[in-house]
Amino acid sequence: MSDLIYYLVPTLLALITIRLYVGAGRKRSRRHAAVLKEAVEAGLTEPPSLHPVVDLSVCMGSGACVRACPEKALGVIDGKGVLINPTHCIGHGACASACPVGAIKLVFGTAKRGVDIPQVTPDFETNVPGIFIAGELGGMGLIRNAIRQGSQAIGAIARRPRTTAEFDVVVVGAGPAGIAASLAAQEAGLRYVTIEQEDSLGGTTYHYPRNKLVMTAPMQLPLVGEIRVREVSKEQLMEIWRGVLDKARPAICFGERMESIAPQAGLFVVKTSRREYRAGNVLLAIGRRGTPRKLGAKGEEQSKVVYRLIEAEQYRGRQVLVVGGGDSALEAALEVSDADGTVVTLSYRGRAFDRVKPKNRARLEEAIANCRIRQILESTVKAIEPGRVVLARGEETVELPNDAVIVCAGGELPTPMLKKIGIQVDTRYGT
Ligand SMILES: Cc1cc2nc3c(=O)[nH]c(=O)nc-3n(C[C@H](O)[C@H](O)[C@H](O)COP(=O)(O)OP(=O)(O)OC[C@H]3O[C@@H](n4cnc5c(N)ncnc54)[C@H](O)[C@@H]3O)c2cc1C
Ligand code: SF4
Repeated sequence: MSDLIYYLVPTLLALITIRLYVGAGRKRSRRHAAVLKEAVEAGLTEPPSLHPVVDLSVCMGSGACVRACPEKALGVIDGKGVLINPTHCIGHGACASACPVGAIKLVFGTAKRGVDIPQVTPDFETNVPGIFIAGELGGMGLIRNAIRQGSQAIGAIARRPRTTAEFDVVVVGAGPAGIAASLAAQEAGLRYVTIEQEDSLGGTTYHYPRNKLVMTAPMQLPLVGEIRVREVSKEQLMEIWRGVLDKARPAICFGERMESIAPQAGLFVVKTSRREYRAGNVLLAIGRRGTPRKLGAKGEEQSKVVYRLIEAEQYRGRQVLVVGGGDSALEAALEVSDADGTVVTLSYRGRAFDRVKPKNRARLEEAIANCRIRQILESTVKAIEPGRVVLARGEETVELPNDAVIVCAGGELPTPMLKKIGIQVDTRYGT
């Protein structure tokens, strides 16, 4: 009898453990399948740039990639790794390094959606001599890569012969690549100016969600030294950028947008929303988010028109028009409508919000039913005036009292501008 117990107990324990393990695996598989289903239904199936492709014949479903991915982009469904949240992937490749059997390959673009990658030399110079590209625009995401490339590109520019132009280099963009480039140019004694279309420092990092955990690695910033961080909150990262501004005082012109670059007698004429610069070199550190798409409506230049929601609280008690039909428009309208006394109208030129996350659609329906948001479909903005907006809906004109307009109409990608300058761009479809 005691022998029987001796063998039976461990066997039973082993069976229970296996059962629990299999049960947990099934539960996880169902959970990840539900996330994937939601992404597919919302049409959010195309990763923005570099992303993993799992070789299913090699994958053994260890889940190491799922644990390694800080963006929760991967899942395991039926024992195989799957990109369940494709639009969340930012391409840092932690998944590929974590995979114990090397089943993950990182690629640009998919068969459906090509990703444009400009051709650059190891010194980050494009095929147009004197025009350089650093950071995410060159295809490689991540803060530390952008910082390294920004510094290295300036190193290459500093080695080029000086010209008689007013500036040795115009740096375009003040994200991580542009920050590092500005500091490196200052350190190298170059005559430089950095122009940034927004009023903030940090580029994409400035727009991370509040309290986002930022994964990075120690980075070397010229003039500032080593920044020893691995995991920081978005707010701590903003503190680091602010410290850079205070310490090194780089020459950054905020709220100034580069509009064109034209070669002229061995130099480049960089035309911005404010003036023209003549420079021997140009460093494009403009990332991949592009420039917010404008409406082209009369009065759009007023300061009450913004292209991204930063702080919902500032709209408390105000009459707000949100324009757009994607998730960012719905999320902005919902967030603003949470504040007491705020009147929110959502204008969209389409007939229905059919390319958004089901969760956002359901929340919008609820907000409309509770009279927190009014939607005006098949409408376009005709004019924005100091105290009101005028919308066109078919033959009809709708006038609304208005204090603020938030436009979420997507971005104009930089590729056409690159091609216009003559920079060679390769379109990658999953390679
Ligand atoms: C949600 C999310 C989470 C992420 N999390 C991480 C993370 O945890 N760790 C990590 O390492 N990376 C992360 N990344 C990636 C990282 O933020 C980017 O790789 C990095 O910001 C790229 O830096 P950049 O300087 O090349 O471009 P950006 O940061 O995009 O900056 C480009 C700048 O150029 C400006 N600009 C563009 N066009 C013009 C113009 N015509 N005129 C003037 N200025 C212009 C823009 O306004 C912007 O300020 C994340 C990205 C996203 C979207
Ligand atoms: S590349 Fe990075 S964000 Fe994308 S799935 Fe892998 S670990 Fe996640």
